[in-house]
Amino acid sequence: MSARVVLATRNNHKVAELRRIFADADVQVELLGTDEFPDLPDVPETGSTFAANALLKARDVAQRTGLVAIADDSGLCVDALNGMPGIFSARWAGTHGNDLANLELVLAQLRDVPASRRTAAFHCAAAIATPEGDERVVEGVLDGVLIDVPRGGNGFGYDPIFIPLGYQETTAEMTAEQKDAISHRGIAFRALAPVLAEVMSRRP
Ligand code: IMP
Repeated sequence: MSARVVLATRNNHKVAELRRIFADADVQVELLGTDEFPDLPDVPETGSTFAANALLKARDVAQRTGLVAIADDSGLCVDALNGMPGIFSARWAGTHGNDLANLELVLAQLRDVPASRRTAAFHCAAAIATPEGDERVVEGVLDGVLIDVPRGGNGFGYDPIFIPLGYQETTAEMTAEQKDAISHRGIAFRALAPVLAEVMSRRP
């Protein structure tokens, strides 16, 4: 029987994406979402970096469940805004998860910034923690530029204004598979597979 590992998210798309990546990398674990642990409290994201927040979540879930836990934290870093919204990406306009308000606030803040200085990057940190205190973090980055008129209906968050470097379309105009192949989260999750395999091989 494969070992059980918890991904600290209630987003079943993330669970499915990570299951596919681990299967491709031949890492044999049974990946569960936190939906299967309804009593787990949300962990406050009090860290000052993506890595710190991902580790806080993974550590908390590993300690509460007694299982190896994985967590990620991600966001958009805009050069003209000195790296913001960064770790505040989900609540940039004040309310957590209001994607449209967040995107409109960034567009308003960049109104007078010319195309040549509208560079930005999506960042993702993915952390693993064991109940015994073994901890690892990997990161993925997707560089791009921000346009001023949103385009595309796929994805979420800032996708309609983000064009990856070397592409013509926004990440909201890509299919989920196209985006996963180049995204910050795809890069971080794929880097996590061998790390998880190693962490699991050292466990009793
Ligand atoms: P979380 O790490 O899933 O909580 O995401 C944090 C926030 O960063 C999201 O609410 C979005 O605003 C933004 N974000 C992270 N990844 C992406 C992405 O792939 N596309 C668009 N926005 C993203």
